[in-house]
Amino acid sequence: MDKIYDLIILGAGPAGLTAGIYAGRSRLDVLLIEKGSDGGQIAITDEIENYPGAMVEGESGPSLIARMTQQAEKFGVQRARDTIKSVELTGEVKKLVGSKDTYQARTVIIATGAFPKPIGCENEGKFVGKGISFCATCDAAFFEDFEVFVVGGGDSAVEEAMYLTKFARKVTIIHRRDQLRAARSIQEKAFANPKIHFLWDSVVQRADGEELLNTIVVKNVKTGELTEIKADEDDGLFGLFGFIGYNPNSALFEGVVDMDRGYIITDPDMRTNIPGVFAAGDIRVKSLRQVVTATADGAIAATMAERYLEQ
Ligand code: NAP
Repeated sequence: MDKIYDLIILGAGPAGLTAGIYAGRSRLDVLLIEKGSDGGQIAITDEIENYPGAMVEGESGPSLIARMTQQAEKFGVQRARDTIKSVELTGEVKKLVGSKDTYQARTVIIATGAFPKPIGCENEGKFVGKGISFCATCDAAFFEDFEVFVVGGGDSAVEEAMYLTKFARKVTIIHRRDQLRAARSIQEKAFANPKIHFLWDSVVQRADGEELLNTIVVKNVKTGELTEIKADEDDGLFGLFGFIGYNPNSALFEGVVDMDRGYIITDPDMRTNIPGVFAAGDIRVKSLRQVVTATADGAIAATMAERYLEQ
């Protein structure tokens, strides 16, 4: 594609979509590139309780994201579905080479987010999609009346465990310490839920089964004791959901943009070390990764990209 856009935004999560809304509203010629479906992590989040204003009955990640997408498109943001394979960002015109096309722009906002960390047990790859999952909203229904295990102790693990109780008959949270990291208010709801059980000081060491997952080996990190947990004979299977945090989606920018442990370093105005290249949302070094901070980043990045273009 020969066209040179004012701005290319990479990633259509809350940060990228908000950048699109701001840049589109400022009449910039904007292209938003996304390789999968819109929304990033909130597309797989069932309940959004703390995004200001999101108190509509039944508000979910997908419903909030659908409105953000609509709003961005209303302001004329153009869309491309493509996977970017390489980038040339240092020149005045930035070039992004995708599997379908090559895209050019004077400014770029990187809003590629993060993806779930693997559980880290033996045989994990073999059972992803066959009992192991990282998305309760996507896969909970497969475990209607079955038993499921959730790994992690943060907000995601505990909230998703509560969601899973709507389907599973029993949900056991396996946490590597004897205290949850999740916010107190979230913990209280989980402790009060009779379907939720806890396996403290434990990590999943191995997953097993024939076609589907039906066994896990859990290690007590304090005593070293190994316990084999087998699915109930009548069930023949169970679910294992991993919610132990995220890894940044930044491999494409390694050696190009300054990073700290894979997260892109920016100044408070979302500028990276490369003029005309900005980063927004979970991909950035920051202390709070939430929808509200991602959207704020997106708004700032788009405004700063506009100022850069004016100069
Ligand atoms: P997180 O807060 O980083 O928690 C990760 C959890 O997984 C921790 O409990 C951690 O244990 C555990 N863990 C990490 N590595 C592990 C490993 N290798 N094996 C076993 N356990 C491991 O991640 P998150 O829950 O995904 O949340 C990410 C961010 O999103 C946070 O800022 C969170 O507040 C936010 N969030 C907010 C909401 C909400 O406000 N409603 C909902 C979801 C997420 P330790 O505790 O021992 O470190």
